[in-house]
Amino acid sequence: MTDSSKQQASRQHTIASAVSLEGIGLHTGDPCQLTFHPAPEDSGYRFRRTDLPGKPEVPALAELVTDTSRGTTIARDGAEIHTVEHILSALAGLGIDNALIEVDNHEPPIMDGSSWPFVRALQRAGLAEQSQPRRYLELTEPLISETGAARMILRPNGTGLHLSFVLHFDHKVLMSQYKEFTLASEQYNEEIAPARTFAFLHEIDLLRKAGLARGGSLKCAIVIGEKEILNDNLRFPDEFVRHKLLDLIGDLTLIGRPLRGEVISIKGGHTANVALAREIREHYGLME
Ligand SMILES: [Zn+2]
Repeated sequence: MTDSSKQQASRQHTIASAVSLEGIGLHTGDPCQLTFHPAPEDSGYRFRRTDLPGKPEVPALAELVTDTSRGTTIARDGAEIHTVEHILSALAGLGIDNALIEVDNHEPPIMDGSSWPFVRALQRAGLAEQSQPRRYLELTEPLISETGAARMILRPNGTGLHLSFVLHFDHKVLMSQYKEFTLASEQYNEEIAPARTFAFLHEIDLLRKAGLARGGSLKCAIVIGEKEILNDNLRFPDEFVRHKLLDLIGDLTLIGRPLRGEVISIKGGHTANVALAREIREHYGLME
């Protein structure tokens, strides 16, 4: 890579035009239209609820996360947006720095349970280079973060974002999986974006009883039964750990800047990811 192409590669990007998708929310089952719009430099990712008076905006930042139990929810002044992680993951995976994401309901469409439909839409919109350089958050020292049974280990690497994930469940069908991934858009599209979310059948019964997962079906999640996977096929033998990496990439955008460093996640999930993003924002003085 020449010096000039290196410089070009590190400029901020937005999308070239607006693009929309429609679908139903995983938990509410309610329809939602989502539209990605281009956004100015240094504005990051912002959601806008077009169905609420005044069309309030909520920036995707760790301190605005209000719930991580079944996905990542952000909210400000009563305007909530649920399950933002797959959308944020698609944006980060494609190297898009700035975007305004409009939704006309509180839960964006789950689509097929992966970030691939969002990637395809963003590719249709096209990327537009902006003039300002990308402002990375470069790790300067190691960090260990523990949340419940999850442990995250971080260290500087001086290059890009390198992720490792150890998944472990005490379950006959899904026990342990491990995968490493270095963030780059082509690899993201091929290896991570198509990986779907998953749930255990016994959890789904509980969720349904609690009035959740109303939009859930085998079309938008892998369902793990007691002895087998209920879907016809998997997209990858290790689709589960790939989806955990997809979620991690999405949740780490809540730092507010693209992270450079090595992240090892052992049994992490949304709660641990968001706690880490918040810790990094505090540690590096990024809190608003
Ligand atoms: Zn997910």
